[in-house]
Order: sequence, then structure tokens, then C-alpha cells
Amino acid sequence: MKVTEHIAQAKKTLISFEVLPPLKGKTISSLYDHLNPLMEFKPSWINVTYHRSETMFKKKTDGTFEKVEVRKRPGTVGICAAIMNHYKIDAVPHLICGGFTKRETEDALIDLNFLGIDNVLVLRGDAAKNEASFEPEMNGNSYAIDLLKQVGDLNNGIYLDKDIQNGSKTNFCMGIAGYPEKHFEAPNLEIDLKYLKQKVDAGAEFIMTQMFFDNQKFFDFVNACRALDITIPIIPGLKPITSKKQLSVLPRIFHVDIPTELSNEVMKCKTDVEVETVGTNWLINQSKELKSFGVPVLHYYTLGKPKIIHNVVKSVV
Ligand code: FAD
Repeated sequence: MKVTEHIAQAKKTLISFEVLPPLKGKTISSLYDHLNPLMEFKPSWINVTYHRSETMFKKKTDGTFEKVEVRKRPGTVGICAAIMNHYKIDAVPHLICGGFTKRETEDALIDLNFLGIDNVLVLRGDAAKNEASFEPEMNGNSYAIDLLKQVGDLNNGIYLDKDIQNGSKTNFCMGIAGYPEKHFEAPNLEIDLKYLKQKVDAGAEFIMTQMFFDNQKFFDFVNACRALDITIPIIPGLKPITSKKQLSVLPRIFHVDIPTELSNEVMKCKTDVEVETVGTNWLINQSKELKSFGVPVLHYYTLGKPKIIHNVVKSVV
């Protein structure tokens, strides 16, 4: 079922989760172990992130280095199929421009369609680890909007190969990313929102946000979107703080602010267990306030911390 249909039919605030594919070498059971405790909350869907390959230099026995492309977390499409089969709930794969030609993307979309997957979260992806800034693949998509248009074309039966006449139409519901604190490459929020609006006009049907720790930033973002006539559902992405290190790691990697009140509380903690308590309580309060604000869904990044997410959701539903 489409994300938009879940939201339209909802009688209360929905819950959804996001997981990373297991590291290469791990089994699918490790993912089920992670998700099993969260299933009591009957999530409407589970997002599965996509991770591009990384260029690594491996030392050979003769002392020279070999350049290899390594995908540490493969399997997004297969994991979506496994989740749908195992739990009988929808899976939402993330789809990125980086590392894919348009033809590879088309083939992946055909696979997803054959598997009965109704939704895709359409993203650009970040720069490869060995690149200073994002470089599209040759014959690939440069921005999320280009990928969105490709999915939109396939929804209209338009394939890259123009010889395909009357091609079967896919029916993907397309989500996009939104940044309450703006995307780090955008010169300002206004310009970032201009591009967000273009993605909505190109057919995006829901927005999932980057994590944030200050609800006011989300409320301001929603109001700014509505002022631009962006009327599609905006789903807050939520994550708990679980270690002191994250006070510097999260701003550096995700370009989000940690409110002073939260960082002060975390700094006072003597152990990670204490930090987890502070992070859990903060996220419970955030979730309750967002629920009162009327968000359609509370979307949790589980990122290896299912117990904490379990405690949060239990206090919120
Ligand atoms: P875009 O919409 O393409 O925007 C990128 C930048 O370019 C922005 O600064 C924007 O303002 C600007 N821009 C947009 N359109 C144009 C245009 N037409 N011309 C000029 N500038 C433009 N990454 C992964 O690799 N895998 C994942 O699974 C993943 N999941 C994510 C889930 C969520 C909810 C979020 C918020 C992010 C996720 N990311 C993921 C990270 C995401 O790929 C990065 O943040 C990436 O840098 C931007 O992606 P985007 O789709 O927002 O890009």
C-alpha cells in the first residue's frame, strides 16, 4: 500500500521505522532481531536505507595497494522483499542517484515493481567518501529531481529505451527528503525550499525529514512549506541521542543543531547509560509534542538502538 494511502486511512498518528541493511557478512536474522521488538507497535511501513559502494585501498602481500569498490551494506531491494514477506508490512526502499546510471536505476525500479513494492524514497545521495563533493555517475541522475522524473516517467510507461511502446506502467508513490535546518549545500533555506517545491511539482507525494532535536525548527519548516503551497504530508524523522560523542558527530555529519538544554543535560552525564536516559526522555517529549501538533506519522531512525526506540514509542502511543 502507498504511504499516502496509509496516511489517508489513518485514525491516529502512525508509526514507521527506518533500518540500515546489515553489514556484509551478517544474516537477515540480525535485522529481524533488531525489528522483532518493534513489531508490537504495528508500524505502517519500514524504510530501508541505501548505501553506495566505497573506494578502498587494500594492501597486497607485495606491499602495493589495490583499489577496490566495496559495498559494506548491500541488499536494500532484497531486504525490502524479505521484510514484506516476513512481517507482511510495507517496505520503503531508499533510491539514490549516486553510483547508478539511469539504466541501472531503471532495472532496479523494474525489480521493485515486480516485488510489489509501492513506494520509493527518492534521494540524491551524498558524495562518495573519496570525493569532495557529489559527482553524478556518467549517464546517471544529478539531483533527486532527475531521479524523481525518471520514476515519474516509468509510472507513465516511459522507458529509457524508446523502442518500448505501450510499456507497462509502474505505480510508485514517491517520497523525498526535507531538511528543517536546510540541506548543508544550499546557500539558504529559501533556495533549498525552492528546490523542494520543484520536487513536489515533479510528483513527490510525501516528505520525510532529516533528524532534528528542536521541534520549533520542524514547525517553522512545515509552516514555510505550507506558505509555498507544499501541501503533501511532511513526516518528521526522529533519532535519540545515545552518546556524548554524538554531540559533535551529528552536527558534523548531518548538519543539525543540538539545543543547548539537551547538550547541557548530556554533558552532565557520567555514563552512556545516563546519556541514553536523557536522549530517551528528550525524544519522548519531542514525539508527544509532534503528535499534538498533528504530524501524520512519527518516523524513527532505529540505527542499532531498537531498545531505546521501543521505550520511546511505548511512552508515546
Ligand atoms: P537534492 O534534492 O538533489 O538536493 C541536494 C542539494 O542540491 C540541496 O542543497 C538542494 O538545495 C540542491 N538542489 C536540489 N535540486 C537542485 C537543482 N535542480 N539545481 C541545483 N541545486 C539543486 N543518503 C544515502 O546515501 N542513502 C540513504 O538511504 C539516505 N536516506 C536519507 C533519508 C532521509 C529522510 C534524508 C533526509 C536523507 C537521506 N540520505 C540518504 C542523505 C541524502 O542523500 C543527502 O542528504 C544528500 O546530500 C541530498 O539528498 P537530496 O535527495 O535531498 O538531494
